Amino acid sequence: MPYKAWFQCIAGCEEKHPLNEIIYQCPKCGNLLEVRHDMEILKTRSAYAWMKLFDERFMRTEWPYGSSVWGKKEVVCPNVHNDNIVSMFEGGSNLFCAGRLGKQIGVPDLWVKQCGNSHTGSFKDLGMTVLVSMVKQMQADGKEIPAVACASTGDTSAALAAYCAAAGMQAIVFLPRNKVSIPQLIQPLSNGAITLSLDTDFDGCMRLVQEVCSKNNIYLANSMNSLRVEGQKTVSIEIVQQFDWEAPDWIIIPGGNLGNVAALGKGFLLMEELGIVRRRPRIACAQAANANPLYLSYLTGLKEFKPKRAKKTLASAIQIGNPVSVQKAIKILKEFDGVVEQSTEDELANAAALADTTGLFCCPHTGVALSALFKLIQKGTVKSDDKVVVISTAHGLKFTDFKLKYHRKKLSGIKSRHANMPIELPATYKRVCDTIYRELERRAN
Ligand SMILES: *Cc1c(COP(=O)(O)O)cnc(C)c1O
Ligand SMILES: [Zn+2]
Repeated sequence: MPYKAWFQCIAGCEEKHPLNEIIYQCPKCGNLLEVRHDMEILKTRSAYAWMKLFDERFMRTEWPYGSSVWGKKEVVCPNVHNDNIVSMFEGGSNLFCAGRLGKQIGVPDLWVKQCGNSHTGSFKDLGMTVLVSMVKQMQADGKEIPAVACASTGDTSAALAAYCAAAGMQAIVFLPRNKVSIPQLIQPLSNGAITLSLDTDFDGCMRLVQEVCSKNNIYLANSMNSLRVEGQKTVSIEIVQQFDWEAPDWIIIPGGNLGNVAALGKGFLLMEELGIVRRRPRIACAQAANANPLYLSYLTGLKEFKPKRAKKTLASAIQIGNPVSVQKAIKILKEFDGVVEQSTEDELANAAALADTTGLFCCPHTGVALSALFKLIQKGTVKSDDKVVVISTAHGLKFTDFKLKYHRKKLSGIKSRHANMPIELPATYKRVCDTIYRELERRAN
């Protein structure tokens, strides 16, 4: 195989480490590693030939290239043998044409990338397929890895559990007790993961899993493991592909641990180097006001960064105060003329609900991104003729408790402006008809 990729320090240390080595941080300076590719080899194929190849494979059945992650294998992770790939047909998610919502908020050219329409219901599948495949490759190469572990706010654990179950590996997930939704909890349980429910928050789980993995031969599956970022970066390639190889003006993405922002930017930088795109979109990272360390850093011009204790937020998957990938994310935001915006609980809940009235079914994190977009439009940062993509990170069905409480007006501190409750009435023709016409009239006003 001519393509080459390796781990290298993000701070520029020269040493290269093979992708099948168990290593997460630079041994010299302690910074995170990233996957680097031999660009000279990749550039021997023209931009046109790459686009043609990716298009030919997209959503077809030839193993493993129908997956939109593995359809881009050469630029993602060429070091895994196809027999060791653990895939569930990642990517290829709907780029929802959200013109109806867009017209209401003042950007008609609005799209929502539905990354939650996937095997485990969040974008985490994009990265987990790469990580678990590499573990399978390492096992095939003779490395002893008895288990793979992660700390999670609910979606990483679901993805890890599913991919490990499919590969016949043991997953161990560290969850903050009572801080993930019931559907998120039931996913790793169903897939046979050792599920640890701990009396701490995500940041506490993260510290513990790092200690367990560093002192034992258990493989760490959190996004400080940059194999996941390689899979997640395909979302930017796929968005461009779905626009017939044109970049949008803006991408709005919710951020917690900030691996996904880093991945989004990395995908665009790769496409630029290969000549696939000539222009970069601007990136807006959206945080919950209750868990906003990057937003606070943005107010200092991204010069200083201080971790903070995350407060409770409905956007539970981004309730993170000490994001692992913050340095990668800051670098990307600077290169993409990026902005950071924040959303209160009231704003995120109402933004999700408004979007739902136009046919979407948004999780609270997508609500954070949407309400950040509303603010950027009001500030004039996003212009009315911009082409805007909002990254929807999880499926709304993982968060029915949030949605039900919203419509019942039971979310404290939130004014449910789009609440819609079932109308209970006797099963008689007259009452039913009267009610229908009353409601039609009320809704027309
Ligand atoms: C993981 C996750 C995020 C945040 O992604 P980061 O890479 O941690 O910033 C946002 N939304 C959902 C639904 C997630 O599962
Ligand atoms: Zn280093």
